[in-house]
Amino acid sequence: MNFTDLGLCDELSKAVADLGYESPTPIQEKSIPIVLMGRDILGSAQTGTGKTASFTLPMIEILASGRAKARLPRSLILAPTRELAAQVAESFEKFSTYHKLTMALLIGGVSFADQNAALDKGVDVLIATPGRLLDHFERGKVMLNDVKILVIDEADRMLDMGFIPDVERIVSLLPQIRQTLFFSATLSDDIHKISGKFVSNPKIIEVAPPASTADTVAQHLIWSDIKGKRDALRRLLRSEDVKNAVIFCNRKRDIGVLIRSLTRHGFDAVALHGDMSQSARLEALQKFKDGEVPLLIASDVAARGLDIAGLSHVFNFDVPSSAEDYVHRIGRTGRAGKSGRAFTIAAGKDDQRYVGAIEKLIGKSIPLIGDTPDKNDGAGNAKPAAKKSRSRNKNARTQEAGPDNSSDTPAATSKPVAKSSKSKKDEKSHSNGNRNRADELPSPPDCVGNTLEDTGHIPAFLTR
Ligand code: AMP
Repeated sequence: MNFTDLGLCDELSKAVADLGYESPTPIQEKSIPIVLMGRDILGSAQTGTGKTASFTLPMIEILASGRAKARLPRSLILAPTRELAAQVAESFEKFSTYHKLTMALLIGGVSFADQNAALDKGVDVLIATPGRLLDHFERGKVMLNDVKILVIDEADRMLDMGFIPDVERIVSLLPQIRQTLFFSATLSDDIHKISGKFVSNPKIIEVAPPASTADTVAQHLIWSDIKGKRDALRRLLRSEDVKNAVIFCNRKRDIGVLIRSLTRHGFDAVALHGDMSQSARLEALQKFKDGEVPLLIASDVAARGLDIAGLSHVFNFDVPSSAEDYVHRIGRTGRAGKSGRAFTIAAGKDDQRYVGAIEKLIGKSIPLIGDTPDKNDGAGNAKPAAKKSRSRNKNARTQEAGPDNSSDTPAATSKPVAKSSKSKKDEKSHSNGNRNRADELPSPPDCVGNTLEDTGHIPAFLTR
């Protein structure tokens, strides 16, 4: 099966070939012919499955004939976050290399002037977050009564973020006769109910069972005490072959603390969260995507759906309190057929509950490395290792590891991720004794009595 077999023109086939796509992904195989037929779609697909091309490519094919008029976009793609909208715009630009279509991206945090200028010229595809689009509408800068194709992307995220009323308002401004493509990572009952307001007789397309995790991601779980989490993370970063990693925190305020701590320990990291200005967010993301900085410390909202080519690792510095977020987080790696590794650092009683919910949702246990939570004293402090391991691991290989003394300085044998000159300077100041002591926490006893189920490579610190 190739892209021309799906009914796409030679120019689009050439554009995807230029990008190195050899054949369509399952969602593309299923969606593209249906979109070209003009039918509505209710699609369940995780990011990483090639979902963006599954709607963008046929839209370009359909829109290739016809011309846009000033302030009257011919199609509209709604995305929940600025980053996702920007990512869809990036894909659209790549796919439409051989077409003369126009596009505008309406997202918050950047000036209205450029966006107005683009709208004035007339756009074939308008890509927007709901809030900014409504701002433009209320200022009389855009009219939506010529929109023939509507895409609602990441609908479950729209729901989580409270955007559905805005989406309803926007949809009430569109012509009743139109084509609607509605995508969500999962098709929960709520999402089914909501979709009924937007789509008409849709073709239901599901490419992965709800909330499944990709086989290309090797998952691991590590229990720590709460104070030892940063130490556990650093040791993972040093022992894993980290090319580039997203590290997730549950709270925005913890991101800055973690970045300062990692920087003091010689790692180079940037932040991405919703309290940053749009330009700061885009700048951080660009540095990370360009490989200038190997670690991105992110919140769920900001990093949802991010497409970073060849991401080697995801670290959950905190266990997400929503099991679905776990699936989305680790789905940043192991994309487009490549393999990836995901580590989750758990600590404390709440995390026992959250891990249980995640394992229930994904329908399997996350292979455990290190000590078990039942030796946790309830205050988030792991007790010294016992011999027992979780019963599900009882046939697994047992690894013993000595105490780790590397909590304060990068270990002599470590393999730190690439550093900038700034972080090298910081590292030097450590050896001069200028370290900030606030970050120096005792090594957790999290590396003794290890068991490792599954998955090939074992972090080096666990085998010492
Ligand atoms: P998405 O799920 O749309 O975020 O896409 C995930 C990644 O897969 C992106 O980096 C795409 O460029 C890539 N991709 C999409 N379709 C294909 C394809 N048919 N072959 C190879 N890579 C693809």
